Amino acid sequence: MPMRTATAKTTTFDNFIDGAWVPSASGDTFENRNPANTDDLVGDFQKSTAEDAAQAIDAARFAYERWRLVPAPRRAELLFRAAQLIADRKESLARDMTREMGKVLDETRGDVQEAIDMTFFMAGEGRRQYGQTVPSELRDKFAMSIRQPVGVSAIITPWNFPMAIPSWKIVPALVCGNTVVFKPATQTPLSALNFVRILEEAGIPRGVVNLVTGGGGEVGSALLVSDTVRVVSFTGSTDVGRTVAERAGPSFKKVHLEMGGKNVVMIMDDADLDLAVEGCLWGGFGTTGQRCTAASRVVVHESVYKTFLEEFVARARALRVGDGLDPKTEMGPSVSEGQLQTVIKYVDIGLKEGAKLACGGHALTTGPYARGFFHEPTIFADVAPSMRIAQEEIFGPVVSVIPCRSFEEAVAIGNGVQYGLSASIYTRDMNRAFSAMRDMDTGIFYVNAPTIGAEVHLPFGGTKATGNGHREAGTAALDVFSEWKSVYVDFSGRLQRAQIDTADL
Ligand code: NAD
Repeated sequence: MPMRTATAKTTTFDNFIDGAWVPSASGDTFENRNPANTDDLVGDFQKSTAEDAAQAIDAARFAYERWRLVPAPRRAELLFRAAQLIADRKESLARDMTREMGKVLDETRGDVQEAIDMTFFMAGEGRRQYGQTVPSELRDKFAMSIRQPVGVSAIITPWNFPMAIPSWKIVPALVCGNTVVFKPATQTPLSALNFVRILEEAGIPRGVVNLVTGGGGEVGSALLVSDTVRVVSFTGSTDVGRTVAERAGPSFKKVHLEMGGKNVVMIMDDADLDLAVEGCLWGGFGTTGQRCTAASRVVVHESVYKTFLEEFVARARALRVGDGLDPKTEMGPSVSEGQLQTVIKYVDIGLKEGAKLACGGHALTTGPYARGFFHEPTIFADVAPSMRIAQEEIFGPVVSVIPCRSFEEAVAIGNGVQYGLSASIYTRDMNRAFSAMRDMDTGIFYVNAPTIGAEVHLPFGGTKATGNGHREAGTAALDVFSEWKSVYVDFSGRLQRAQIDTADL
């Protein structure tokens, strides 16, 4: 059982190592509280150490020798079962998620749905994982490429998609034949534990998936420096991603990084403005702006700037902020005190930089908001592209609206940040849409839709400081969790030397 009731009021949840639910060697735990109401203690979770991480790595190393030999279609059968279990429990999983990280129920249902979709999709890869068979340049010789698992995989995840992102990593790792040590964000250990519990119930063998909760510095670092861990898949901030790459580098692991974003919506003079306003509201304030793909910059053509801004501000002001468990709520709290303080800090920076505060700008601290981390939906207008609020990831309900004079200027502003995750354009001009699709330096691009809303069967990830050349989701995810092996079978019965001997015509 993953939990032990410590007192009448508190539930303590364990790590999952080598098929058993166990406490940390530290004997210590950390609290997980509801960000909409900090009086609500979700549970206590293991404050794990490097020693716990080492035990989990050992279990994963041992289990790998059996799991890699299980035929991929058989591995997939367990994943199909897991997908169905997640679907059966979608509502309670979504409620747990809203309670621990605050986003509204519709969105946590979407998060769980993404885990269902990904698990079904990747389980299908159990019968594919296609390689190539190609002709050899020599007679009586056969040539093909096959995927092989990499080994023990460290999975380090953020809190904003507590089940979707772990599924994007763990499920492709498993279907390829790898074993896993999973360290989730400290803000969302319950959703991580719920996911692992379902994998256990689905019959994933002992040691194949291990869960170790706790801090990045302690548990995360132990995973990065281990020689046994052969691949690290990390999603989180660009600063921590850089540390992950540096620490994992000396042992030559595969390192897959999905990091920050400063995404842009470009609204042209011929755009459907009502549609654009809808998109910017959803893109900017969905998940309280705490999406890596959040539309935190809106670049608007000067001829429609005033009309767009008026409508956008009116709609943002009307958004209902509150507890995500209340069906009437449209925007929940920030995930933590620290995240709320970051939002407050950036509002101050925007004001000092001379941007015009068009709406919002304050934390909500009284009445129903008194025990949570709430902030008004905030829009800055007349923002210059070089301002910090237009350059740095805020990860909160703050949108910068930037005027522009032409399509070319919009593209230049859009590309003028260190990140390269997602961009979008609102236009009715097909030529502009295709030009922007080609010219935006991002991994994801939308036409007449906001910057958010990825689907699991397409590659997901970004360029520049957002990523390091890998993608998750789609079949691209298989490349992170497998190595290519080229296999040659010579059935000629004699030595044939490639590039030296030539086959007779
Ligand atoms: P974070 O970087 O603070 O933490 C991410 C994970 O790394 C957590 O599990 C954390 O405990 C761990 N960690 C922290 N320090 C570590 C260390 N020294 N060694 C190893 N692990 C360590 O990010 P966050 O606040 O959890 O998430 C928000 C960030 O994630 C934003 O920047 C957002 O853009 C990004 N994000 C990116 C994507 C994407 O696909 N590009 C998706 C979601 C979120």
